[in-house]
Amino acid sequence: MTSTIGSTVLGYPRIGPNRELKHALESYWASRIGEQELRDVAGRLRADTLRSLKDAGLDSIPGNTFSFYDHVLDTAVTFGAVPRRYAELGLGPLDTYFAMARGVESLPPLEMTKWFDTNYHYLVPEVGPDTSFSLAERGVLDQVREAAALGVPVRPVLVGPVTFLLLSKPDPDAGPDFDPLSTVDSLVGAYAELLAELAREGVEWVQLDEPAFAADRTEAELAALREAYTSLGTLPERPKIFVPGYFGEFGDALDILSEAPIEAVGVDFVAGEVSLDSLSVLPGLRDKTLVAGLVDGRNVWRTDLDRALATAATLLGLAGEVAVSTSCSLLHVPYDVEAETDLDPEVAPWLAFAKQKVSEVVVLGRALREGRDAVSGELADARRVISARADAERVRDERVRRRLATLRPEDTRRDDYDVRKAAQQEALGLPPLPTTTIGSFPQTPDVRRTRAALRRGSLDHDTYTRRMRAEIERVVRLQEELGLDVLVHGEPERNDMVQYFAEHLTGFASTEHGWVQSYGSRCVRPPILFGDVSRPRPITVEWATYAASLTDKPVKGMLTGPVTILAWSFVRDDQPLADTAKQVALAIRDEVTDLEAAGLGVIQVDEPALRELLPLRAHRHEQYLRWAVEAFRLATSGARASTQVHTHLCYSEFGDVMGAIDALDADVTSIEAARSRMEVLRDTSAAGFGRGVGPGVYDIHSPRVPEVEEIARLLRAALESVPPSRLWVNPDCGLKTRNYAEVELALRNLVEAAAQVRHTL
Ligand code: GLN
Ligand code: ZN
Repeated sequence: MTSTIGSTVLGYPRIGPNRELKHALESYWASRIGEQELRDVAGRLRADTLRSLKDAGLDSIPGNTFSFYDHVLDTAVTFGAVPRRYAELGLGPLDTYFAMARGVESLPPLEMTKWFDTNYHYLVPEVGPDTSFSLAERGVLDQVREAAALGVPVRPVLVGPVTFLLLSKPDPDAGPDFDPLSTVDSLVGAYAELLAELAREGVEWVQLDEPAFAADRTEAELAALREAYTSLGTLPERPKIFVPGYFGEFGDALDILSEAPIEAVGVDFVAGEVSLDSLSVLPGLRDKTLVAGLVDGRNVWRTDLDRALATAATLLGLAGEVAVSTSCSLLHVPYDVEAETDLDPEVAPWLAFAKQKVSEVVVLGRALREGRDAVSGELADARRVISARADAERVRDERVRRRLATLRPEDTRRDDYDVRKAAQQEALGLPPLPTTTIGSFPQTPDVRRTRAALRRGSLDHDTYTRRMRAEIERVVRLQEELGLDVLVHGEPERNDMVQYFAEHLTGFASTEHGWVQSYGSRCVRPPILFGDVSRPRPITVEWATYAASLTDKPVKGMLTGPVTILAWSFVRDDQPLADTAKQVALAIRDEVTDLEAAGLGVIQVDEPALRELLPLRAHRHEQYLRWAVEAFRLATSGARASTQVHTHLCYSEFGDVMGAIDALDADVTSIEAARSRMEVLRDTSAAGFGRGVGPGVYDIHSPRVPEVEEIARLLRAALESVPPSRLWVNPDCGLKTRNYAEVELALRNLVEAAAQVRHTL
């Protein structure tokens, strides 16, 4: 192994090519296997990963990329940030770790939240004035030794100390003004201990990730970064230090790190808009390695190697040495395209999953070191694929493009709300505080089996339709019996709110094995949006109209919004996201028109992921929100004034997008609020939407059934900021993960609470 980084990847998937870790974890949690068996599976997965990275020819191989659950939690445990309430359970180390991750009966888990703007979720560490950091757990060293024994020296990867603290929250006993960052010296001391031990093990490089600096940061936070790496860099005994920042441009942090006494910095050239001018004014880079993240670690397209090489070439004079890598860890893409047997044969060659991306990095590294001729075959191959994709007829649909080019301003505007309100009141005649649900009803094993049987081909289409209709009828009868005001069909036909639409739109492909870790053992299989999007035929109309035919109550049609469809897919990178969003919006708009024509007077377009795509840097927010809002309005503005358009958002923290939610101009907006006890209405301008609003009054993330009085209290709290003519009564989100026993009771209480509060108006 050379002493330079050369070619590398910043991290690798760990769930297993066939989700072996998921299955082993779930077996262990269900006590079907013991700890040793779980550890054996983990060891085999680590060995397989190391061997495949080595065989692929990477110059520097990342280590410690494995995790039983989450790498942020691993970092917390490594340095002793285990909250006392978990330590006091008296469990063994592995079960204490799982208690923090998943909770135990007597104790909820740590809070979980999204890892920057990805769909990966990490556990939020708790840090307080009493947290005493030290090298408390030696798993990192074990992984280093295990790799060395396999003949694969590694560069251990850890979350950097400053990012770790920026992702932490004050522990429950800390005062309100406590800032986790105030403990940075102590934490850096613990990292120093680890670095010294790694050096003694003969580890040459260590990678400390600081992605938090791809977002806007204060002077104090930047100063903490400077001090942390000055102090780690001047340790007498340590490996060489490599600090990458990713998911955007590193900004001021790059200046600081280029001056710090470390050996390498990593820059994301895919997500970040990095100007060469900004790099050329950093003299500190001249004696460092610049690790250029040129292969997209978050998306699934083959890399334009010529372009990547051209970028690398411009860097050559700016740094002491230029190495190549993925833009971020490959955790966010599936393992291997070759495992797919059912992919569209025209689209498959355009794709690169983790294994293919490793090869791309290796080719780039060789081209830089040995010259382009050494890899001319690989470069020619990539060139062929890139141009085939660019020219493919499958990618372009002129009708879709013409339609987009001829959009008029009125296509994103509806009548004034007053006009709509009167028309809807007349059409629907709803009472004040109308009750409804967010769409899905519990997905029983029977429903799942029926869908699976259709997919396998062991159930004919007519039988499938009959069974789904029976399910819809059951759900409609239940809602009538409960006395809900606006009914839904229950979504039994949908595996997932994005996948379902992707399967019915052109321009999307689906994978069989393309699993990506979302959190712990949970994986998602995002669809791949590769071409222009259109809707060949109605998608939901048949189910929705069947539901409507069964009842005199209004039935709400249920669609997924364009932004959410993009957020939960792998999206083409050959045109602006805004254009792709508008294409999806037009497809949804067609569905809205058809639902309306079929007699549905209420249509909900869900945008739970609206906030997920919000860029990390504030100066990009406005542009994003502009097109996101426009896409939603394009999807919904074809509706008549008398058609009531609902939207639904969840995954909390709406503060910075309230203005955008208002601009969606939906007639009714339902938002998650039960857990925060309606705070969402007090803290923000939700009350000022001036239109209908349904703050959730039943927390569907918990098996708990809320009492009538509790719901009534929440409604009375909501009435302090929202007039009764605009307040809706609904759960926080869809009910599909709950069971019928809970849901029936909770909805009965919800309807009763609404009735009680209505009487007091
Ligand atoms: N309509 C969807 C459902 O009820 C909404 C899900 C969501 O917001 N995540 O399942
Ligand atoms: Zn939701």
